[in-house]
Amino acid sequence: MTNKTAIKPNARLIEVFSAIQGEGLNVGTRQIFIRFALCDLRCHFCDSVYTWNTPDNCRIERSPGLRDFEICSNPVSLPMLVEWVERQNLTGLHDSISLTGGEPLLHAPFLVQFLPQIRAVTGLPVYLETGGHRPEQLAMILPYLDSVGMDFKLPSTSGESCWQEHAQFLQLCYDRQLEVFVKIIVSQKTDPAELERSALLVAAVSSEIIIFLQPVTPLETPVAFSQIPVLAPSPAQVLNWQALMKQFVKHVRVVPQTHKMLNQL
Ligand code: SF4
Repeated sequence: MTNKTAIKPNARLIEVFSAIQGEGLNVGTRQIFIRFALCDLRCHFCDSVYTWNTPDNCRIERSPGLRDFEICSNPVSLPMLVEWVERQNLTGLHDSISLTGGEPLLHAPFLVQFLPQIRAVTGLPVYLETGGHRPEQLAMILPYLDSVGMDFKLPSTSGESCWQEHAQFLQLCYDRQLEVFVKIIVSQKTDPAELERSALLVAAVSSEIIIFLQPVTPLETPVAFSQIPVLAPSPAQVLNWQALMKQFVKHVRVVPQTHKMLNQL
């Protein structure tokens, strides 16, 4: 039976704004961020708990980078979102559009319709930030993506476990010849055996794929259910983990969240 609600061309959003990417392969580039509501994971280190549910309203930046937000009600229609992104797209300013969340792939039926249009009107590449655990939804929008940053969720750090899904997901990106990298958030509690498993999983697809180890940014207010303080790893831990993983893959880079250093969104 077709779920007509799921294919309605509207989206549940948190915000649209222009900023500097602080993580992964695109660090330092200027992007139009479209932050979608909803997430089906519950990572202990989540710094975006406000995305887990759909708010009544979302906020839309009027002028790129000025944080002059207007408030609009959810859900948002496809033409309206196209118009907002076009408004942000000053000539030459942005390097790409970032689909982020929450988990953007929960909006795959919307994205199938939205992405061809937004590519046509802006000419900008599309970058997907994702938990990397929904290969079926990824397959729906693969033709409209240019690059993907996928998280590996380590059970010891995140409380989630998605090994099989991560493997399928990464293979899909690689087979499509997308620019893809893997990000792994690490804390003092990270189990090195899980890092070794991650490196082997990546190497089974290609040992050339870049892995970013991202020391967790300590949360001011820990997520209530986690009961576990999420602390950044020590310098010795990070050095050991990088050496461990480089036995299996060529590129393991250690990079913290640079947008937090810049005091950005
Ligand atoms: S996938 Fe991202 S948004 Fe979802 S719970 Fe984990 S860190 Fe938070």
